[in-house]
Amino acid sequence: MTPLGRIIAARIAAAGPIGLADYMAESLLHPEHGYYTTRDPLGAAGDFTTAPEISQMFGEMIGLCLAQSWVDQGSPAPFTLAELGPGRGTLMADIARTIRAVPGMAEAARIRLVEASPTLRARQAESLAGDAPQWRDRVEDLPDAPLFLVANEFFDALPIRQFERHEDGWAERQIAVDGDQLAFGLARPARIGALDHRLSDTEPGEIVEVCPALPAIAGEIAMRIADRGGMALVIDYGGWRSRGDTFQALKGHAPVDPLAEPGLADLTAHVDFEALSTAFTEAGAAATGMTPQGVFLERLGITQRAQALARKLAGGALDSHIAAHRRLTHPEEMGQLFKAIACHPVGGPVPPGLDEVPCHDDGHSHP
Ligand code: SAH
Repeated sequence: MTPLGRIIAARIAAAGPIGLADYMAESLLHPEHGYYTTRDPLGAAGDFTTAPEISQMFGEMIGLCLAQSWVDQGSPAPFTLAELGPGRGTLMADIARTIRAVPGMAEAARIRLVEASPTLRARQAESLAGDAPQWRDRVEDLPDAPLFLVANEFFDALPIRQFERHEDGWAERQIAVDGDQLAFGLARPARIGALDHRLSDTEPGEIVEVCPALPAIAGEIAMRIADRGGMALVIDYGGWRSRGDTFQALKGHAPVDPLAEPGLADLTAHVDFEALSTAFTEAGAAATGMTPQGVFLERLGITQRAQALARKLAGGALDSHIAAHRRLTHPEEMGQLFKAIACHPVGGPVPPGLDEVPCHDDGHSHP
C-alpha cells in the first residue's frame, strides 16, 4: 500500500467503510500525500494530457469566446477573468495573449485562479508571470464584479458518490479493507429522496453518480453572473445525466485500478451536464445547451486558425500540428466525449459556439 493507502486503511479500520467521495478527496488533495498536492501531473512525462497542453489553438478559441461575450455585454471594466483548476496555467496564458487583440479587455481583466494545489500554484505563477494573477481557495472568494470564468477538466476531479440501484432503493458504493488491500463494498440499500426521480430511468444493478460539491460551486458562479453579468464556460468529459460507473484512475497515460495506489494516480468521473445546467438555472442565470467540444471549436473557427498556423510549419512540426487539430476536434478523439456548456445572464446574448437550446441527446456511450 502507498503511505496514503495506509492512512485511509487505518481510518476505515477505526470508523468503518468510507464513501467514494471521501476516498477521492483524500487521494487527490490530502495535504501531505494528495495526488494534486504533491505533483504536476500533466504532459508526456506525467499521467494525462489536457486540451490546452495539446495546442495553443484551444486556449485561443476560448479566448475568442470570452472576448466576444465580454464585448456583447458592453465591455464591463474592471471584470474578473477567472479559472477553476488551471493546471499549468497554459490555458489562461493562451487566453490572456488572445484577448490582448481586443481593445481595453486585457487592461480591464483581473486574473483570479481557484487552485487547491500549492505545487500547481507555483507552476501557474511561472506561466502567468506577466499577468499579475492572484489565487483564491474557493469560488466564494472571487471578487464581487462581472465574472468571465473558464473551467476545463476541473469538475471531473470533484469527488463523487456512487449508488447502485436496488428494487426500491439505493446501496451506496463504499470502500472497505479486505486483508491488506482496499476493496469496494456496498452499504445497506435505503430509499434516497434525492434519487427518487432516477427510479424510473434505471434498472436494478445500475449505478448512478452524484457529485455533492457541484451544485454549490456552479450555483455560486451562476449567482454572480445573474447579479453582475459575465459568463462561465465549462468544458469536460461527460454527458447529460449520470448513468453507469465512470470512476477511473489514470497513471502514466494508462488506466489503473483506482484503489491500488491512492495519491499516485489521477482519479476522475464523468461530469453530469444536466446537474450543471440545473445549478445554473436554479441560481437565476441561463444555461446554454450542452455542445460537443469538436462542434464548439469548429464554430469558433479552429480550422481557419489551424490553416493559418500551418502555413508557417513544415515536416514533423506540421504533422504534429495537424494531429493536434484532429485530437481536439475529431469525434473519435476529444471532439465528442468532451462537451461545453455555458452560463450567462437571462435574456442576454448567448456566448458564441454553443447551442442555444438544451440538447439532451449527447451520443454519449453509457458503460
Ligand atoms: N484545467 C487544467 C488542469 C486540469 S487538472 C488543464 O486543462 O490543463 C485539474 C485541476 O484542478 C488541477 O489544477 C487541480 O489541482 C485542480 N483541482 C482539483 N480539485 C480542486 C479543488 N477542489 N479546488 C481547486 N482546485 C482543484
